[in-house]
Amino acid sequence: MISRIDLRGETLPEGSALRDLLPRAEFDVEAALEKVRPICEDVRHHGAAAVIEYGEKFDGVRVEDLRVPAEAIARALEELDPAVRAALEESIRRARLVHREQRRTTHTTQVVPGGTVTEKWIPVDRVGLYVPGGRAVYPSSVVMNVVPAQEAGVEGIAVSSPPQKEFGGLPHPTILAACALLGVDEVYAAGGAQAIAMFAYGTADGAADGRPGCAPVDLVTGPGNIYVAAAKRLLKGRIGIDAEAGPTEIAVLADATADPVHVAADLISQAEHDPMAASVLVTDSDELAAAVEAELKAQVAVARHVDDRIAPALAGRQSAIVLVTDLEDGLRVVNAYGAEHLEIQTADAAALADRVRNAGAVFVGPWAPVSLGDYCAGSNHVLPTGGCACHSSGLSVQSFLRGVHIVDYTRDALADVAHHVVTLAEAEDLPAHGAAIKARFGWKVPESK
Ligand code: NAD
Repeated sequence: MISRIDLRGETLPEGSALRDLLPRAEFDVEAALEKVRPICEDVRHHGAAAVIEYGEKFDGVRVEDLRVPAEAIARALEELDPAVRAALEESIRRARLVHREQRRTTHTTQVVPGGTVTEKWIPVDRVGLYVPGGRAVYPSSVVMNVVPAQEAGVEGIAVSSPPQKEFGGLPHPTILAACALLGVDEVYAAGGAQAIAMFAYGTADGAADGRPGCAPVDLVTGPGNIYVAAAKRLLKGRIGIDAEAGPTEIAVLADATADPVHVAADLISQAEHDPMAASVLVTDSDELAAAVEAELKAQVAVARHVDDRIAPALAGRQSAIVLVTDLEDGLRVVNAYGAEHLEIQTADAAALADRVRNAGAVFVGPWAPVSLGDYCAGSNHVLPTGGCACHSSGLSVQSFLRGVHIVDYTRDALADVAHHVVTLAEAEDLPAHGAAIKARFGWKVPESK
């Protein structure tokens, strides 16, 4: 069901050599680039017509109009199960609490008398938020995308999610209801690479009845499968993107004090997303490893989504139980791995969590499972995967802001530093840079005070 990697009794190598010993999916975004390139080019040249064609090909349903009508969004909220509505509202409330506190304030540095640099945070004008809907539907991802964008102050928010055959080509009604709860009314029924290309290039041809299409966006965020990740990578530059958030990953660092029932349940919870999802247990305890293996068997036997997702995810080369000599080595392993989600289930979980350097999000102790973070912790669940946690963060208010430096110097403040600017311009053989300073002072370099 799940393989073992035994790293006990050897000195662990550093960096990439250690990473090479660890399990990881063959999630080859580079290879998928060639598959999505023609899709993106088609959308660029043929607009909405191409998006609709690809929806029919990959999602099995042809839509008349990509834009979801306002009535369908309102109806989805009216028909939403009250318990689901209450849960979504609580998820939104908690996410808002956390993301509101991430807002950046304008800061002015007085560099010298008469010379200031102000850093001003300006939200992007328009974002396209991708909400997956292939194998599973993710109304929670509506919350995790929209809340930080709104708290950042983004004015133009568009959401796209794949058309669902059983709902007449609309995105899943729970996704529409989540949009309604958040006050988002610009929603498109498009998935995969064609949705990302729609956001990047816009669809001027729009609907059959002449209604406007989707206007191009400045930034696309949100998780998705390999085609979504590849399209984001391909179109980066034309649009801004967040970190690559591909098939989900959980790593659990646990010792003999951990409860194998909880550990197994948490490993299965992420395997449930995708056959390419990764579930990794890192432990110094033989007893725990054996107990988790037994629990995995017992719990998978009564789980749903076993054949199409859980079993292949646990058996895949991306999942394993990694045995280490002690928790110090365990920490080295999880830092080298850089999991999207890292749970610490050890005697002194908080102290170990404090020493984690690479993870999308860290879940401390027995009462903070990843499922809590997926929905209702208040934290964001759009997190970097595939080791990207070594250089990227999850989605936050910051993802939607640009820091702009505003430089304001008086004549005296410029005169005082002019000779340094001219010297550096000459050192770079860019004399016109120096001339731009001298022109302001009668073509002479002012003497510094
Ligand atoms: P998805 O919406 O990402 O992808 C579905 C789309 O893929 C379809 O609309 C279709 O257009 C396209 N597609 C399918 N087969 C194709 C093919 N052969 N060629 C080109 N395009 C094709 O939904 P999904 O597939 O369920 O994937 C969602 C992923 O998002 C999962 O891997 C899940 O783990 C991940 N996820 C990650 C995070 C995170 O923060 N890292 C959060 C939530 C979900």
